[in-house]
Amino acid sequence: MTYDKDNIFAKIIRGEIPATKVYEDEKVVAFQDVAPATKVHILVVPKGEYVSFDDFVMKASATEIAYFFKTVRSIANEHGLVETGYRIITNHGRDACQSVPHFHVHILGGRFLGGLIPDDVEER
Ligand code: AMP
Repeated sequence: MTYDKDNIFAKIIRGEIPATKVYEDEKVVAFQDVAPATKVHILVVPKGEYVSFDDFVMKASATEIAYFFKTVRSIANEHGLVETGYRIITNHGRDACQSVPHFHVHILGGRFLGGLIPDDVEER
């Protein structure tokens, strides 16, 4: 997996294109998904160059991984989702339809989310 430095989230991290940021520190940035799938749809992105979840877990340190997921939880909490519930999704690769090749976690919530995967998904 070769990291593409010109992917859209790399550009957001570098400040080259705008995003509606809800959180940022030296290691992580989180922003509103441009095409929200539900009421709350936040993308949480490590600033390091990782292509996907698989790449992140293989290359990042245990400290970095723990910090990232603690931050995901903290952002969900800040948005009032812990009591009502939320879903985190991360897509790796073709079958999961990953569209941006920089690791990110979707936080989805703010309403009832239903089942995990719709029944009518057709292979592309
Ligand atoms: P995935 O399919 O898991 O790779 O998710 C990529 C997500 O990035 C999709 O939900 C897109 O709507 C979202 N997205 C793409 N471009 C942008 C952008 N410029 N700002 C915010 N979200 C974006």
